[in-house]
Amino acid sequence: MKLIYNKWIPFGNFGLMNVLGLVFTKIPIDKVTKRSKRHEGTHTYQQYELLAIGAIVSLVLCNFYASWWYLLALPIVPFAIYALAFFAELLRPPYHNAKEFFEGKCFCDKVKAVPAWFAKIWLDAYRDNCFEREAYANDDNPEYNSTRPACGWFCYIIPKKDRKDA
Ligand SMILES: [Zn+2]
Repeated sequence: MKLIYNKWIPFGNFGLMNVLGLVFTKIPIDKVTKRSKRHEGTHTYQQYELLAIGAIVSLVLCNFYASWWYLLALPIVPFAIYALAFFAELLRPPYHNAKEFFEGKCFCDKVKAVPAWFAKIWLDAYRDNCFEREAYANDDNPEYNSTRPACGWFCYIIPKKDRKDA
């Protein structure tokens, strides 16, 4: 894992972004906590696993059905699967805190509350997808990345009872 300090990546309020073991950071490298490094280390393992799964599936598909040129798209597979997990969480009920944003308000205030509600469900979908759940659940444990089971994120696909606001 290599940390790369810059001013632009990742976008928005995020501090760190992992791309196959290259971690782009807007936080000065000496200020990145051990916990954040462990969190990103878990993402590195996840991305390598998804890359390996994508490679096996692509090799089989290319052998029988498709052009070998499709293998050039392999590096985007981990991010496509991450995006899929994110959007699945976005679409899946329960839609958190709808009451908190809308209950007891007049129509105009309800309309005004929509962007804040959407920002909340967007953030919840980020925190609740199986890859982030695995990383957040274990970033306090210094041993986790050296002892984690292969494809440990799989155990976090089905939400547990600790899901926020469920
Ligand atoms: Zn993360």
